[in-house]
Parts: sequence; C-alpha cells; structure tokens
Amino acid sequence: MESIAGVLSLTDAQNKLLQEYRQFTETEIAPFANEWDRAGKLPRSVLTGMAEAGYLGTLIPVEYGGSAFSLVAFGLLNEAIGVGCSSVRSVLTVHSMVCQAITRWGSAAQRERWLPRLAGGQWVGAFALSEPDAGSDAAQIAATARPDAEHYVLDGTKKWITYGQAADVFLVFAGNEGRLSAFVVERDTPGLTVEPLDDMFGTRAAMLAELHFDRCRIPRAAMLGRPGFGLVAVAGAALDIGRYSVAWGSVGLAQACLESSLRYARQRRQFGVPVFDHQLIQRLITNMATTVSAARLLCLQAGELKEAGAPASVAAVWMAKYFASTGAFQVAADTVQIQGANGCHPAGSAQRLLRDAKVMEIIEGSTQIQQAMIAQLIPHAA
Ligand SMILES: Cc1cc2nc3c(=O)[nH]c(=O)nc-3n(C[C@H](O)[C@H](O)[C@H](O)COP(=O)(O)OP(=O)(O)OC[C@H]3O[C@@H](n4cnc5c(N)ncnc54)[C@H](O)[C@@H]3O)c2cc1C
Repeated sequence: MESIAGVLSLTDAQNKLLQEYRQFTETEIAPFANEWDRAGKLPRSVLTGMAEAGYLGTLIPVEYGGSAFSLVAFGLLNEAIGVGCSSVRSVLTVHSMVCQAITRWGSAAQRERWLPRLAGGQWVGAFALSEPDAGSDAAQIAATARPDAEHYVLDGTKKWITYGQAADVFLVFAGNEGRLSAFVVERDTPGLTVEPLDDMFGTRAAMLAELHFDRCRIPRAAMLGRPGFGLVAVAGAALDIGRYSVAWGSVGLAQACLESSLRYARQRRQFGVPVFDHQLIQRLITNMATTVSAARLLCLQAGELKEAGAPASVAAVWMAKYFASTGAFQVAADTVQIQGANGCHPAGSAQRLLRDAKVMEIIEGSTQIQQAMIAQLIPHAA
C-alpha cells in the first residue's frame, strides 16, 4: 500500500466541511429519523433539500449541473448524513452509485439526458443488481436483456432495491446474449412494475422494492458501457463507491451512538451517581470512541488513496467498510446496553441505530465476503 504520510486526522478544512454537513443533518434529518423509521417512508422533500444543498450531485461534474465534491468531501457528507439517518444515507449511496456509473461509463448523450436531472434532484437513482437468487454471488443474475430491432427486451426480477418504491431511474444489470450488461431504465417504461418491500428490520425508511420486468422494452441507447461490461466494470466501480459511502455512513452511525451514549450516561443516575461514573460503562464508551476514530481514519485513508487514483484504494475501501460496519454494529449494541430498557424503546434512537447497523454488515459486500476478499487483495510477501 502506498504511503499515506500526513493523513493522520481530518484537516481544519475537512473538519469545517464535516461541521457544515452536520448542521444540515441536525436541522433537516436527525429530528425526524425515528418518525421516518416508524412510518417506513421518507418524504421526498428531504431529498429535494439535499439536492438544493448540492448533495445529490456530488459525483457529477459541474458541466452537468453537479457539485463535483472531492472523494473525501463526499465521504464526510456520508458520515454527517449517517449520524442523522442511515435510511437517508442509503438513498444517497445508491443515487451516488448511479451518478458515478453514468458519469464514468455514459456516452455524451446519456450524460446529457440523465445527469442534470440526477444532480438537481428532479430524478433520484436506484441500483438494481440483486435478485431473489443472486445476492453475494452476483454472477448468478437471471434477468435477461434480449435485443430486437430497436430495443432490448428486459425480463426478470430485482429484489431489495433501496428507494425502489420512489426512484425515477434504475441502473439494472441483466444477461445480454450471455454477457452481463448494464442498462439505465426509466421508471415509466411499460413492462416495469414496482412492488414495495415494507417492514424491513433496518434502514426501514429506505423504501425498498422488488422490480418486475415483463417484456420491458428499453431503447438500445439505454445500455451503459459496452456489452459484457456490466458486472466487472460498471457494477464493480459503482460498488466500490457504494462500499466507500457505506463505510463513511457507518462512521456516522457509530458517532451518533457515541454522542447518544455520552448524553445518556451523564444524565442517568444509578447507585447514587451518573452511570458514566461506573468504570464498566467508561470501558464501553472508551471502546466506542476508539472504534469511531479508527474507522474514520481508515475511511480517510481510503478517500485519499481513491482521490490519488491509487490501485491500493480498492483494498483500503474494503478494509474501511469491514472495520466501520462491524465496529458500528458493536458500538450500536453497546449503546442499547448503556441505555438499558430506554434503549429498547422506540421513543429513543438506540434501537433504530442497532437495527440500521446490522444492515451495514450485509450490504455492499457482507462481513463474510469482506473477510474472504481482503485477504485476497492485500499484497503477497515475496
Ligand atoms: C436494507 C437492504 C438494502 C439493500 N439494497 C440493495 C440495493 O439497493 N440494490 C441491490 O442490488 N441490492 C440491495 N440489497 C441486497 C444486498 O446487496 C444483498 O443482501 C447482499 O448482496 C447479500 O446477499 P444476500 O442477502 O442474498 O445474502 P447471501 O448472498 O445469500 O448470503 C447469505 C449468507 O451467506 C454468507 N455468504 C455468502 N457467500 C459466502 C461466501 N462465499 N463465503 C462465506 N459466507 C458467504 C453471507 O455473508 C450471508 O451471511 C439490499 C439489502 C438490504 C438488506
């Protein structure tokens, strides 16, 4: 792995950005997160507000209406939104994956058609790779895209699609004459029906859906990249960004847990003192604070390496996501522990944070896939 000399903590400028993004979260997102979680829905206005702040166009060049954030700034935004609500952060993740894919692989005409609307929030994107029988092993995709005279005819089912209930445009992966390819499918295309998947365990407000494609005719111009580029090139790069976003989002989730635990432990009294004064509680909080700091540094390392275009960024992103998501789950479990019965009740955030943290260990490469992959990605000793 390349040297990361100098990357020891957030710079003053990065800290300032993080505070700016957190301010947005604290007014527009965090106060409503429990309510959205209970309702299992997000109001579109939260995404409109994010678009107005430039947060939906972060990976889109300025010439297409984007805000062209650095990758570290994009990461910090994901941390800040993750502090407030992992459902919103999940929508930001998949939307950003679609933006990144179209920016990187789209023709000029494709970029012109989709990017300005995605940057402006008129359209929100969703990422449709998983199927009922294709999860970690995405190569098992059964959806097909058969060419006819002027179209591709799309058939198949996509499952667990974040924001599928309300997204306007889907990045869909399907087999095309034996090769997996990527297609951009607009929501109003005849033959596409959307079935809500409600009452999920975590990120309940992320509005998941199952997508059914039944002889859904999409224009030839809807293919992104070349035939056969779908899985390794288009999905590979999008998943790298998604993993990076989830890693930072997990830092935010863990940071929210730390802040909530500190507040609670100082105010809750048992045995005549704040529970904070009990050393076993201090131990939990020490471990939380250390996990948050370490996860943030791994994310920062990944961001700096990505920004530099370093090949080592791939492993760095996997490590950041692995550490941050598993760490966030432990931190969230300890947050519920510190808050006792109050931590289990929906009036507080602790139980939501724990449910959301479990999802971080499943999406964008499950913990087990991370454990197998990272060993394969690190350089071998001679
Ligand atoms: C809230 C939520 C949102 C999601 N959003 C999206 C989305 O927007 N778009 C999308 O395309 N998909 C989405 N998904 C699906 C997600 O990508 C898959 O859940 C993920 O890829 C894991 O697949 P699976 O759930 O089918 O588990 P499986 O792949 O069936 O795995 C089951 C278990 O086996 C383990 N396992 C699998 N393979 C191995 C192996 N080789 N070695 C060791 N253990 C293994 C896994 O870690 C897991 O514990 C979402 C899922 C959730 C829960």
